[in-house]
Amino acid sequence: MDVRFEKTTAPKVKPQDMSKVPFGSVFTDHMFMMDHDPENGWHNARIVPYGPIPVMAGATVFHYAAEVFEGLKAYRKPDGSVQIFRPEENAKRMNNSAERMALPTMDVDMMVEAMVKLVEVEKDWVPTDPGTSLYIRPFLYANDEDLSLHPYTKSTFVIILSPVGPYFPDGLKPVPLLVEEEDVRAVRGGTGYAKCGGNYAGAMRAGARAEAKGYSQVLWIDGVERKYVEEAGGMNVMFRIDGKMVTPELNGSVLPGITRKSAIEIFEDWGDPVEEKAIPLDELLAAIKEGRVSDAFMIGTAAVICPISGLAYGDDLYEINNGDTAQKIYDAITDIQWGRAEDKYGWCVQVG
Ligand SMILES: *Cc1c(COP(=O)(O)O)cnc(C)c1O
Repeated sequence: MDVRFEKTTAPKVKPQDMSKVPFGSVFTDHMFMMDHDPENGWHNARIVPYGPIPVMAGATVFHYAAEVFEGLKAYRKPDGSVQIFRPEENAKRMNNSAERMALPTMDVDMMVEAMVKLVEVEKDWVPTDPGTSLYIRPFLYANDEDLSLHPYTKSTFVIILSPVGPYFPDGLKPVPLLVEEEDVRAVRGGTGYAKCGGNYAGAMRAGARAEAKGYSQVLWIDGVERKYVEEAGGMNVMFRIDGKMVTPELNGSVLPGITRKSAIEIFEDWGDPVEEKAIPLDELLAAIKEGRVSDAFMIGTAAVICPISGLAYGDDLYEINNGDTAQKIYDAITDIQWGRAEDKYGWCVQVG
């Protein structure tokens, strides 16, 4: 892939103390961009100074939310080199999301190459302090200047980068979740499995209400029968019930998390397999009440693992006493991500 490079003339001052930078609030000096239309396919790959994107007010993305995105990270290894965790998986998922939203897909190798090239240019932005990383945010949107509801013809793919501090500077901290009984995040046949901005817009109200009541996130239940546990805010969930690891199955409305998938592979390797199945909320609550739930955590790129201290449902709080599973799987995943352990599954892609 030929990539035109326009170097910034005004490099930014990098934050000195990453632990004080709120997640996703600082961006690096450059971004990757590429355009698509049916005649030319993907073209005009470029790395340009980070900044505003020219988009017409009539562009489809603003009116019909034609947008999908990804989230992954580059990590500084103990020897100072940099690696990206499972970028092919994110590229494949972005294509699945794009396909669902009638946006163009892209060759997986080309998307990974774009990420690697940009991170290489911005290598000095990969922070070095423990627990820090460089968050990679690819996104893709339709920018036809056209309000008619016809298939899009013009799209743009962008990658921006944001250095991020440790999610838990003082170690894993269990948080309570509020079971959301009114809003639903996704339905079967809808866009739940796609990482599209619209899913987040529709989830914002419930998240804000939960936060106002002192909960970190909502626990979503399925939108069809309103009976089964799906996921939490923007993360997947796992529980140990009666000694067995379980997680909601990928039923079309649950987002197929790559951290979830990685954990399932590691648990399998440990001889502690995770069963993927429909988990009825009432059975989970009963199991918590009877002391049969020994571990509960959220799992996703941003925090990796976040233990769940309890579920608030109606007027009751169902408290969970977490065992050591959250810490164990957190250590196993993050040791591979930061290059402290051998990458025995071949998950990481080296930069430079
Ligand atoms: C991105 C995301 C996840 C977690 O996926 P990872 O690939 O592990 O980061 C889970 N749920 C939702 C709704 C998401 O958008």
